Amino acid sequence: MTNASTMDHKDLALRRQLLLCTCCGSRATGRQFHNQDTGHGLGDCCVDFVRPRTEDMERTYGVAGVHYLLDPLVKVRTPDAPAQWGHWSISQNLTDRWGEINEAEPDLKLVQPLLISNPGLLDRLRSQMHEEDTFVVHKGGRWGILFELEHYCRESDANAQGVNSHEYPPQAVVEKGLLDGMRAIASQFPGVDFAVPGPGNTYNDRPAAWAFVPDGLLNPDQREQLGTALGSLLRIGAELAKTDPQATSGAA
Ligand SMILES: [Zn+2]
Repeated sequence: MTNASTMDHKDLALRRQLLLCTCCGSRATGRQFHNQDTGHGLGDCCVDFVRPRTEDMERTYGVAGVHYLLDPLVKVRTPDAPAQWGHWSISQNLTDRWGEINEAEPDLKLVQPLLISNPGLLDRLRSQMHEEDTFVVHKGGRWGILFELEHYCRESDANAQGVNSHEYPPQAVVEKGLLDGMRAIASQFPGVDFAVPGPGNTYNDRPAAWAFVPDGLLNPDQREQLGTALGSLLRIGAELAKTDPQATSGAA
């Protein structure tokens, strides 16, 4: 379990564009792959047709999620640039928290059929899930596990959780604490990507801590350590702010 790809595919830097499907000539959204003629690429229309007929899909057509069957772009803030929005290229919720395939919103998980048709891959990913905090996802051209730990805040839960709920801290305060905490723990988990997702990704837009773990990166002990650390982010972030005010300025 040491061959995990710890970086998003470099071609994610290329723009998403309309290409002509190299198989049927239809227009298809994708990214240019270097082994295909300029302006051409494998369309989502023909993935099912070519897969059984192609010896090496990656060498011929590129990587699913990156060049075809594109992973959606999701707004996030990351601990190394907490003040600005960035994007993750990620197909979320390919399974639910218990590892069962989740077929809702198929337009946002174009790669899912590749997972369903590969029981060995699905079993391997399921075996890397942690408690009820994780989902199988596809990010930056890689399969992996997304930890998602939600928190209450004033905006998301003030009217839902009872009379004292106005005491929840504001969303911005919770999210800053999460990002501060991530910055403190990130060096302990090289190859894990951390972020706080933007609106539309959690129940009631609750603040959440995301950590993407590429397939095979962590052993069970390391997954346990990551789960524990993610559950302690707000405390870790608060302590960091006390001892090192500069660390919370985004200049880490
Ligand atoms: Zn086609």
